[in-house]
Amino acid sequence: MTDPPRQRPTIRLQLRILGEPVAVEAPMPPERVRLDEVLPLLHKIDDRAVDLAVQRTEADGKTVSCRKGCSACCRAQPVPVTPPEAYALLRLVENLPEPRRAEVRARFADRVQRLRDAGLADHFLQRDRDVTKEQARDAAQRYFRLGLVCPFLEDDACGIYEDRPFVCRQYLVTSPAELCRDPFTNPVEVIRMPIAAAGAMLRTATNLLKKPQFTMALTLALEYAQAHRAELERTFASRNAFSQAVQELARPRPASGDSGPASGD
Ligand code: SF4
Repeated sequence: MTDPPRQRPTIRLQLRILGEPVAVEAPMPPERVRLDEVLPLLHKIDDRAVDLAVQRTEADGKTVSCRKGCSACCRAQPVPVTPPEAYALLRLVENLPEPRRAEVRARFADRVQRLRDAGLADHFLQRDRDVTKEQARDAAQRYFRLGLVCPFLEDDACGIYEDRPFVCRQYLVTSPAELCRDPFTNPVEVIRMPIAAAGAMLRTATNLLKKPQFTMALTLALEYAQAHRAELERTFASRNAFSQAVQELARPRPASGDSGPASGD
C-alpha cells in the first residue's frame, strides 16, 4: 500500500482591496527566494485587484473595451517592467523550446537594434532621474512612433499571458478601442487600479538590493537582465521578501498612477 500524496504546504493571505475582503493562497516558498520568485503571489493579488476594479467600473455603467485580438497597446507602447520582471522574462525565454526561443530572441534583437538606431535605447535602459516630464513624454512618443511590436505578441494575442508584466495586467480601457491606436493624442480612458503592483515590486527590489531600481521598456528586458544577472540571482529570506512586497502593495497609491504602458516608476 502506498502513502497518499502529501499536500504541499500553502501560505494564505487575507487582504482588503477597495474595501472588499480578498483571500489569496500560494504554495509555501522555499526558505530563500530570488525577487522574481515573489512575482506569482503578487500576480494573484494583482489579478484580484484588477477584477474588483473592473466590477466597480461596470457597476458605474462603463464597459471595458479590451478584447482578445485587440492588441493596439502591445503594438507600439514602451511597456515598463521592473528588474525582477525582466529577469523572469529572461528565464522564461531561456526555457522556451526551440525554434520558438530563437524566434523570440530574434524579435527582441530587432527591437533593441531599432531603439539603438533611433538613439533611444539608453533612455529606456538607464533611467536618468534628472529627465523632466516633458523629456520623458517626448521619448515615449518617439518610441511609440517606431511601432515596435512587443516580442511576445503572437497572432494578435499575448504569448505569455499568465506571466505578463504588471502593467499589461493592469492596463484596461473603457474608451473606444480605436482610440488606443494613438494614446498620446486621443482621449483614452484607462481604468484606475486600486494597487500599484509594479511600484511595490520596484520598492521591494530597491530595499532588498540596497540600490535604486527603475523600470525599463519591455523590449530591453533581456538586455537588462543579462547585464544584471548576478544581482537579480541574489536570494533573500522568503519571509522577508514576501512580507516586504505585500506591505508595499498595501501602501496607498500615488495620486497619478503608473497604470499606463507608457508610464513607469
Ligand atoms: S507581454 Fe503580452 S500583454 Fe504585454 S505588451 Fe507584450 S504581448 Fe502585450
